[in-house]
Amino acid sequence: MEEWQRLLVEGVNSVQKLKERFPEIDERKLQAIARKYPIRINHYYLGLIQELGDPIARQVIPEEEEITDISCFEDALNEEGDSPVPGLTHRYPDRALFYVNYQCAIYCRYCTRKRKVGDPASISRANIQKGLDYIRSHTELRDIVLSGGDPLLLKDEQLDEIVGALRAIPHVEIIRIGTRIPSVLPQRVTQGLCDTLKKHHPIYLMVHFSHPRELTAESKRACDLLADNGFPMMNQTVLLRGINDDPQVLKELFVGLLRLRVKPYYLFQADQVEGAGHFRTNLAKGLDVMKGLRGHTSGLAVPYYVIDAPGGGGKIPILPEYLIKCDEKEAVMRNYEGKIYRYDFPTKEVAWESSSRSPF
Ligand SMILES: *Cc1c(COP(=O)(O)O)cnc(C)c1O
Ligand code: SF4
Repeated sequence: MEEWQRLLVEGVNSVQKLKERFPEIDERKLQAIARKYPIRINHYYLGLIQELGDPIARQVIPEEEEITDISCFEDALNEEGDSPVPGLTHRYPDRALFYVNYQCAIYCRYCTRKRKVGDPASISRANIQKGLDYIRSHTELRDIVLSGGDPLLLKDEQLDEIVGALRAIPHVEIIRIGTRIPSVLPQRVTQGLCDTLKKHHPIYLMVHFSHPRELTAESKRACDLLADNGFPMMNQTVLLRGINDDPQVLKELFVGLLRLRVKPYYLFQADQVEGAGHFRTNLAKGLDVMKGLRGHTSGLAVPYYVIDAPGGGGKIPILPEYLIKCDEKEAVMRNYEGKIYRYDFPTKEVAWESSSRSPF
């Protein structure tokens, strides 16, 4: 057994085991939740928890609101409505999500797909074939995002087969793999995994860090290895109430990710997912985070803040109000320090004059 497999097996995957580690939990209440939404905290991630209620613990230890919250939707983004074949969501013109595995290295309590993840019935070969056939017959699909669950929990040989089949499709240019592995089970990133995947480049990894405490020596080793093997890495973070909804915390995370050669890509407003409503914030929180980034730190560290529109409208970017006024003559803008600036647009005469002065 490899180290990462041992960490998975030795982790907490039942309320009983959780109680052994944290005697203060209410076993009866958590049993009711675990019957609906599975628990998994692998041994590595368990080691990052300092105490109950801390930002690591809250991502993986169930809270009562998970089954009392009825304000949201099971499939908030209507991913199944946009599924032409089971296990594939085709919403945008040239790209699709392809679900290849519903297991994860931890089960995040806020997961948008909590209705599905941890389903013991893993995805059948037949379904994966149907997904591949769909992609083959839709020549407009040039970008495929492998998702789940966590694709990197599959064995190297299974990944080789699926990614190899995608790479053999002439119109598939980009393959992305959505994964929490570098932040929650970095031991899974081995040279063997890199060798398997790099044969099929270009492959981007869409990683998912939630908190600066996940930036450990182990996760750095994993990201260094991935970067050295040519995988560009983009990070997606969900804005989580009481966990990371603080401009200082997210700035530390995003700047820290750059040191790991990971580009902060999306900051998501938490989806309206049943059982995860207690993690949601208002928009002002996210805007505060964004205002604290632009101008104050490297532009590289600034992600897009987006709301994935309920019902399947897709990702919509949200920006603080930098543009105060704009008409034919001028744009009036606010900079990151709150100072006001004006930009005058060229009038027709000015444009003509400057071109007549041109040496060409
Ligand atoms: C997020 C998402 C994608 C990828 O979107 P990008 O903005 O290109 O990263 C593709 N399909 C679906 C259904 C998605 O939710
Ligand atoms: S790793 Fe991703 S898919 Fe798995 S539970 Fe966490 S958020 Fe959901």
